[in-house]
Amino acid sequence: MTSEAVSVPVSVPTNRKKLFIRTWGCQMNVYDSNRMADVLAPLGYGPAATPEEADMVILNTCHIREKASEKVFSDLGRLRLLKNEKAAAGQKMVLAVAGCVAQAEGAEITARAPWVDIVLGPQTYHRLPEMVARASRAAGAQIDTDFPAEQKFDLLPQVSTDGGPIAFLTIQEGCDKFCSFCVVPYTRGAEFSRPVAAILAEAKRLVSGGAREIALLGQNVNAWHGEAPDGSAWTLSRLLYELAEIDGLARIRYTTSHPRDMDDALIGAHGRIPQLMPFLHLPVQSGSDKMLSAMNRQHKADLFFRIADRLREVRPDMALSSDFIVGHPGEKDEDHAATMALVGRVGFALAYSFKYSQRPGTPAAGQPFQVPEDVKDARLQELQAVLRRQQDDFNRACVGRECDILWTGPGRHPGQVAGRTPWLQPVHAMGPASLAGSLARVRIDAAHPNSLSATLLDEKELACA
Ligand code: SF4
Repeated sequence: MTSEAVSVPVSVPTNRKKLFIRTWGCQMNVYDSNRMADVLAPLGYGPAATPEEADMVILNTCHIREKASEKVFSDLGRLRLLKNEKAAAGQKMVLAVAGCVAQAEGAEITARAPWVDIVLGPQTYHRLPEMVARASRAAGAQIDTDFPAEQKFDLLPQVSTDGGPIAFLTIQEGCDKFCSFCVVPYTRGAEFSRPVAAILAEAKRLVSGGAREIALLGQNVNAWHGEAPDGSAWTLSRLLYELAEIDGLARIRYTTSHPRDMDDALIGAHGRIPQLMPFLHLPVQSGSDKMLSAMNRQHKADLFFRIADRLREVRPDMALSSDFIVGHPGEKDEDHAATMALVGRVGFALAYSFKYSQRPGTPAAGQPFQVPEDVKDARLQELQAVLRRQQDDFNRACVGRECDILWTGPGRHPGQVAGRTPWLQPVHAMGPASLAGSLARVRIDAAHPNSLSATLLDEKELACA
């Protein structure tokens, strides 16, 4: 998960008003930003490249990382000046704060930033048009931070397709796990799984709109258990088999998973569904059973080992990615050593690692035995050095290998085309940009710090990866 701000391009047919959305956080927030753009399209909102040219600005926030709300408040300070400038020029700008910071700190936002017009939590985006209309008429912030997840998905318009070859599809929201360090159960609410029919319909629309790869999204995606049309309950593996039947869908991924919900059927699906990519993001957070218990992770290190071994048994080219937190309250040197041992034994193609930071309202925030910053720094450096080396090793091991690439668009240099390997690595090769949206075979020539370069072997489109 990243916390970098990204602007989400919005594809809207009419351009009478302009909308700028700044998105922090994971792909689920990017998905939500696109859905907010969809829901505002009928009101005539088209994309703005900058806040300066926008009639409405939405900050879609993420509460995962440290200082998330400070970043939002400093952005709001800059937007206040812009809003005042526009007002002096006789223009109105609607300012909204959405996402997990809005959910967790709605009251504080309206108190500290009364120039904000709308505060809305992640489950109420379908009410955005109504809130925009009210905000345009009345002074004072409109706040909606309820948790009606089911209603949100029922009432949002059908997802728009921009024709891109990689699409995201939210199938699950919220979390019941309550890890000690995490705000998600408080900001996104209880686990909710979308029904099978809605997911399949959205997947088919995405594919007919040009998607060749679909990444299923959920805060706890492998806990998904949706109602099928016949009233039975499906688990994620059953859904994956059904999605694999969609003509033209070449690649399927799912993220983010919890080790406890990696059941045998799901592991087995990795060996039986060729469209399921051999790359899985499976956060483990720590290699110490004592810390896993303190984190309320509800699994032990041994379960993670068994899952990794089984996945590689059924799919020998399987690569794993993970999340790590160092310096959780109570973490001792021997716990950190257990994490290092886990990393050494499993080996990761990619990983995200962070120092523990206190999230207000989470159980770990008030725990004794907080780890000093300099100790956290040293442990993080040690861990990241090994993870970086493993990532480099993994990329270098790809050199000389042949694999299928899903091409996504032109590369950075003239004559190049760019895409993704089955293991999600960015790759570029000399070739026509017209390959975008298709799969073609390459030989990997070199591994660079953040990408691979390759030679096209066959420009003919492949049926699947
Ligand atoms: S499983 Fe834990 S870390 Fe993941 S969303 Fe749920 S509470 Fe947060």
